[in-house]
Order: sequence, then C-alpha cells, then structure tokens
Amino acid sequence: MSKIIVSACLLGIPCRYDGKSCPNERVLKLAEKHTLIPVCPEQNGGLSTPRPPAEIIDGKVINKVGTDVSEQYLRGAQIALDVAELNQADFVLLKAKSPSCGKGRIYDGSFSEKLIPGNGKTASLFLEKGYIVFNEEEIDLLESALIDKDGSNR
Ligand code: SF4
Repeated sequence: MSKIIVSACLLGIPCRYDGKSCPNERVLKLAEKHTLIPVCPEQNGGLSTPRPPAEIIDGKVINKVGTDVSEQYLRGAQIALDVAELNQADFVLLKAKSPSCGKGRIYDGSFSEKLIPGNGKTASLFLEKGYIVFNEEEIDLLESALIDKDGSNR
C-alpha cells in the first residue's frame, strides 16, 4: 500500500475555481489499494470557491480580474507539502494544467487556453523537494511506479 497525495478535484470534491470537480475513475480506483490524501492548494491557501480563474504571468499568479494571488498560491503549496511530509507520502498525483497543480504544461497567462511548458506553484514545490509527481494524464506511469514499489496496484 502506498500513500498518494492527490488533487482533491480529481476525487470529486467540488473545489475548482468554477465550483465544480473533475472526478477521474482511474484515480478513484486507486483508493481500493492505496491511501489517497486529498489536498486543494488553492482552497488551503485561503481562496474561496468559486473564485476567478488565475494563470501564471512572469512567475506571479494573477487572476482574471487582475488581482495578484501569488501569496495564497504559495501558502497553499506549502500546506500541501506539509501534508505530504506529515503523512510520509510516497507519490504525488496532481491535476494537469492548473496554475497550482499543473505539472509539465500550464496555461500561458493570456487566458486564451494556450498551454506552455511549465509547472504550477504546488507542482513546482513538490518537484523541488524531490517528490515523484504525476498528473492524471500520466496515470499509467503512476500505476507502474506503484507496481514497482508494492508489487500490485489493484
Ligand atoms: Fe484541483 Fe489543485 Fe485546482 Fe484545487 S488547486 S481545484 S486540487 S487543480
């Protein structure tokens, strides 16, 4: 059994900026054999739900009405890291493309759905601290890592 930090919206918690969730069946199935530990760095950092969408511009997180919410994003990232450390998490599974949770690709800051290489604030912090981070589009890789570690993911 592994302990996996998971973006809460992937588990069906309606914590997204628009008040919705994005449950993922394959992520939910992991709970049959592993301990999933939900975090929502944007809520944990003090932002309300719903909230204006935000994107990263020149390293700062700016929402669609022009407010700099970098402080809340960084606070939420630290809280997610604290949760992982307290629980001695083995892996981290985050929601793709988010300015918090996105790993590998994020929106370019123009609010026009354009993606660029990069990581959200929480994904960056986990990677910087040496955690093994996946997004839900990489769940095959996570499943392989779970098999390597535990011998089974089913
Ligand atoms: Fe989901 Fe992460 Fe955004 Fe929270 S901060 S809604 S967990 S993508």
